[in-house]
Amino acid sequence: MPNTKAYATPATKAPLAPFSFDRRQPGEHDVAIDIKFCGICHTDIHQTSDQWGGGVFPMVPGHEIAGIVTAVGGKVTKFKPGQHVGVGCLVDSCRNCVDCKRGEEQFCGVQPVFTYNSLDKEGNNTYGGYSDKIVVDENYVLRIPENLPLDGSAPLLCAGITLYSPLRHWGAGPGKKVGIIGLGGLGHMGVKLAHAMGAEVTVLSQSLKKQDDGKRLGADHFYATSDPETFTTLKGQFDLIINTVPAANEWNQYVELLTTNGSLVMVGVPDEPVAIAGFPLIIKRRSVAGSLIGGIAETQEMLDFCGKHNIVSDIEVISIQQVNAAYERVLKSDVRYRFVIDCGTLNN
Ligand code: NAP
Ligand code: ZN
Ligand code: ZN
Repeated sequence: MPNTKAYATPATKAPLAPFSFDRRQPGEHDVAIDIKFCGICHTDIHQTSDQWGGGVFPMVPGHEIAGIVTAVGGKVTKFKPGQHVGVGCLVDSCRNCVDCKRGEEQFCGVQPVFTYNSLDKEGNNTYGGYSDKIVVDENYVLRIPENLPLDGSAPLLCAGITLYSPLRHWGAGPGKKVGIIGLGGLGHMGVKLAHAMGAEVTVLSQSLKKQDDGKRLGADHFYATSDPETFTTLKGQFDLIINTVPAANEWNQYVELLTTNGSLVMVGVPDEPVAIAGFPLIIKRRSVAGSLIGGIAETQEMLDFCGKHNIVSDIEVISIQQVNAAYERVLKSDVRYRFVIDCGTLNN
């Protein structure tokens, strides 16, 4: 599919700029998608500034893709033209390892193919959703429920599944107290999903500025982490705390907020190693863990759950021309609560 319009980062930390390239022609198992909207995940900022190393440039970020099927290959059975679909962080994987066979393709260590800044099975660099079309094997395409708007659904493909998966894994539901650290793109989805699952939800934000929003999104309680009293008041309370903060913060004080057997789960990527004291874990059999997005089947389960509960992301739709300014605002925690690019503006 020649002449795909996109925005790319030409080199590490350079601003995003117009770029065009050719997508592969759809094969017999492929779905061709017109991208309508793409969310801006904080991971896009980590990667375009090459904070994790190994970045390949030019880089077309974007793994919160929502669009409409335009064509399908001859052997595609799950999709047809006109359908609303999504693509998240993964566009392929080895399909044979223990993790892939268990339906947890996100953990594939053999040949995971991420939506951008990754190599596909032919050895070509992958380009993400800040573009007008994409071609993806049907096994890695998700159905977006027709009752949900496409723009607000886009962030479900990463922010949504990244919170849904640990909430399910650690059993969030009625009678469980869940804390969410950081009310950004991931955090606000965590509040909505945990609330819909029936858990008692507390937001731990840097200040009380977002308190009204937090309550509107479904939080039962809202505390500022800048206030030392917070850590006294909430000591020993939570069954599960999910940390979405994209920086290293003081983990030991969060461990102390867990109940016996409670778990503190890292989804935000700290910029440096985190020191954890032993005794607070040992004396209450607490756990510290990590979690990575979710598998394809679980992502579909999450989308269906959102369809049933009418859950989408709270978004600010922008044109592609505003993307660099949006990155600056994300870095200042000034987004309520996800920027979503209208990919139609690639034609402006
Ligand atoms: P985001 O929209 O920028 O939200 C992060 C929130 O964390 C901010 O809104 C802010 O909330 C808080 N925060 C930011 N900087 C902070 C600091 N220095 N100290 C304390 N709190 C701070 O980012 P996001 O898109 O939700 O992504 C968050 C992180 O998750 C990133 O590191 C991203 O790479 C990672 N991620 C991981 C996965 C996974 O599978 N594990 C998937 C997607 C993203 P308050 O204003 O409420 O304090
Ligand atoms: Zn993401
Ligand atoms: Zn695999």
